[in-house]
Amino acid sequence: MNYNTLFSEIASEVETTVSPGKIADYIPELCKVNPNKFGVHLTNLNQEHFEFGDANEKFSIQSISKVLALVLAYKMEGENLWNRVGVEPSETPFNSFVQLENNNGIPRNPLINSGALVISDVLISHLKNPKKEFLAFVKSLSNNKSINYSARIAESEKSTSFRNAALINLMKSFGNIKNDVNEVMDFYFYLCSIEMTCKELSETFLFLANYGVNIFTNERVLSTSKAKRVNAIMQLCGFYDEAGDFSFKVGLPGKSGVGGGIVAIYPNNYSIVVWSPELNEKGNSKKGLKFLELFTTETETSIF
Ligand code: GLN
Repeated sequence: MNYNTLFSEIASEVETTVSPGKIADYIPELCKVNPNKFGVHLTNLNQEHFEFGDANEKFSIQSISKVLALVLAYKMEGENLWNRVGVEPSETPFNSFVQLENNNGIPRNPLINSGALVISDVLISHLKNPKKEFLAFVKSLSNNKSINYSARIAESEKSTSFRNAALINLMKSFGNIKNDVNEVMDFYFYLCSIEMTCKELSETFLFLANYGVNIFTNERVLSTSKAKRVNAIMQLCGFYDEAGDFSFKVGLPGKSGVGGGIVAIYPNNYSIVVWSPELNEKGNSKKGLKFLELFTTETETSIF
């Protein structure tokens, strides 16, 4: 099936039906992005590529990198990881505190900010040079050496990091952060600052559509069981307090970021990325959500 024509038809429907959203303005550097950017790229297991619009322009992947950090930490810690972070949907915003106090500093899941801060702490405990080794891991997944952090975005986020600082200090008080809080936050902001194109991001996530095996190198990244579990966490937690709605309308595991990107996985078939910077009040790309709803409905591709 050639998706290019369908992509452009759905993109024009989205353009005319979705009202404007708002760019994430709590990270000053993210405000500089052109709100009208729109790109989509699909890579399937036959290594065929389909795309539309600004699919080859780099953007800040933000929280989408929480999945990649989870994958590396899960590889290293195995099932012990679940003593430090849960696997339940949060039903609260990505930077919320409300459940953390009640749960004694154990985040509900690895895809909200508190959970990703714990995952960052786990990685720092395992890696000699965390930034360098994490980036090498991401490059190996994508089979692409051009991927990098944006120091400009990471430092910008650091300058307004009040909520993340509060979250990590609360968890430190419960003993669920083992390393220095500033070191963990610095690593967390850098991993959120990774920039990729829609194409690069869809290639990076393709192993999750392939039962944990990197299709470019044939290397096993995760066991089939662990890949299933990472997809399950995305299904239930990838969109914070909008995860149910995403599941209901799109029917695939996925993950969003406040840079306006969304990745979704159709197991045994494809990985798709949509990028449009204007967000809804839950911090998810408005046009991205609508595009994926129309695409999976039209193509009848869903895990259900
Ligand atoms: N870096 C962002 C933050 O910590 C990530 C949030 C997101 O993409 N939802 O707030």
